[in-house]
Amino acid sequence: MRCDRYDTDLTAGAAGEAITRDLEAHLEGCVSCRERLAEKRALLESVDQVLRIIREHPPSEDEQLERVIARRFDFAEMAQRSLGLHWRKLTRAEQQEFVDVFTKLLKRNYLDQIKAYQNQEVLFTGERRDGEFAVVETRIVPRQGEPIAVNYRLQLSDGQWKVYDVVIENVSVVNNYRSQFNRVLARNSFSDLIRRMKEKE
Ligand SMILES: [Zn+2]
Repeated sequence: MRCDRYDTDLTAGAAGEAITRDLEAHLEGCVSCRERLAEKRALLESVDQVLRIIREHPPSEDEQLERVIARRFDFAEMAQRSLGLHWRKLTRAEQQEFVDVFTKLLKRNYLDQIKAYQNQEVLFTGERRDGEFAVVETRIVPRQGEPIAVNYRLQLSDGQWKVYDVVIENVSVVNNYRSQFNRVLARNSFSDLIRRMKEKE
């Protein structure tokens, strides 16, 4: 039977905070909570690894950062989602080219954006799983000003949770790109789109 009694504490525990005596005692007798803790850990780990390396890495080591992000982000999935219905109209070669150009563009944008938050505290505030899909919710807490909500959408792929969208203050990165690309493709060819994306890299 599923037990939700310690849901918030389990999230904190999965995010690396100390587990209370109370919860520890409960975990010994509750299979549901033990399983949920393991599940939460697997989920949060995929986001935490990216966040930790961003926080700790010196700016000179962009390559290392890119490698970690490449392991945790499903760029091909994000590219396909960003193109929406146009994806199926492309040839295989065009799809491949689009994934390559999109990946470069996203890495650059995302790295710049996330690096701006580099020395700020990040809190895990929750997570939801629905079968093969999940959301990990975080808050960036700046020294001044309001916290910023950053949620990661993940999909289970080959036994690994991978990010396929990032939602910053309710704005989805994928949806944002999709409306930009749709606008361009309404009046221009695919090669025009690729050219414009390359100019922005
Ligand atoms: Zn329980």
